[in-house]
Amino acid sequence: MPVSIRADLAAVPDYNIPAAAPDAVRLNSNESPLPPPPAVVEAITRAAVEGHRYPQWFSENLVSRLASRLSVPPDRIAVGCGSSSLCRDLIQAFCGPGDEVLCAWRSFDAYPVFARVAGVRARTVPLDAEHRHDLDAMLEAVTPATRVVFVCNPNNPTGTAVRARELLDFLDRLPQRILVVLDEAYREFVDDPDVPDGVALASQRPNVAVVRTFSKAYGLAGVRVGYCVAAPAVVSAVHKVSVPFAVSRLAQAAALAALDCADEAPARSATVVRERRRLYARLVQGGHPATPSQANFVWMPLGERAVAFADFCAGHNVLVRAFPGDGVRVTVGLPEENDAFLSAAAQYRARTRAAAGTG
Ligand SMILES: *Cc1c(COP(=O)(O)O)cnc(C)c1O
Repeated sequence: MPVSIRADLAAVPDYNIPAAAPDAVRLNSNESPLPPPPAVVEAITRAAVEGHRYPQWFSENLVSRLASRLSVPPDRIAVGCGSSSLCRDLIQAFCGPGDEVLCAWRSFDAYPVFARVAGVRARTVPLDAEHRHDLDAMLEAVTPATRVVFVCNPNNPTGTAVRARELLDFLDRLPQRILVVLDEAYREFVDDPDVPDGVALASQRPNVAVVRTFSKAYGLAGVRVGYCVAAPAVVSAVHKVSVPFAVSRLAQAAALAALDCADEAPARSATVVRERRRLYARLVQGGHPATPSQANFVWMPLGERAVAFADFCAGHNVLVRAFPGDGVRVTVGLPEENDAFLSAAAQYRARTRAAAGTG
């Protein structure tokens, strides 16, 4: 007799890892196109020498460095192996059987998966016509069972951001027993001054937790480290549910070193933002659908053509991420990588126009 796997896991999709040619242009995972700075690589190497010792349980050194950098007391910071694991910990800490998680759709596809894995229902609310969080509709979707609401700001995969006024209004109207998780994985790429700083909000409101990551702007996606800023009670709850020693010695050292050379980070992000603007402008000029973005990617609402477009790009050695039926997310890469993508996109458009006889 086969082992009996939890029946409800059948509803959880398998994660499909796309096969990639080693030389492909990888614009499909929102990674930094640049490797970590040499000082970070050296710090990881140094930490490896003590690889036989467990890391600090709560990443205490990293917490205190983040605390001074963010001007937040250390008991308000939890570190995790990537901020996605913190999202999962927060669901685990706040939700039990019968409870619900609320999020926008499309948004980060991990939220509903984490909810299901925790045995919790995920209620999703469609984005508005401009691919933005529809906060009014989300308020209406709150039920007595709602425990956690995710607001991904800027939103993955559409790149749109919620502004301060609308977010504050939402937070004021939401029942205060509900935890709002502000996912700021792409915070460093925001150039709209009206987009609020989640750390400031989390410092003022006991029901707001912000999660951030070293994976994107700091180029440490392969190292796995992120953090959460929230009320001390929320941080303690995260500590209770998290996997012991989940944040490796190497990850803690890498994040500390990344903060040491954090002076370089704004310049790196500014380069991405410049390329993002160019990519977006070129797409619009070329007649492609594209959404203005605050993140390190651009969303193309291609609807039913999403998969065909992504396949066409893959045929030209450029990998982008298709969300079937919705659109394609294109990560901002190095200028020459973006040019390779733009060239593939132009060829796709020329071909579809020729096929449609619209020249
Ligand atoms: C990338 C991403 C994260 C962070 O991922 P980690 O690598 O686990 O830190 C979190 N939320 C969203 C929306 C993301 O796109």
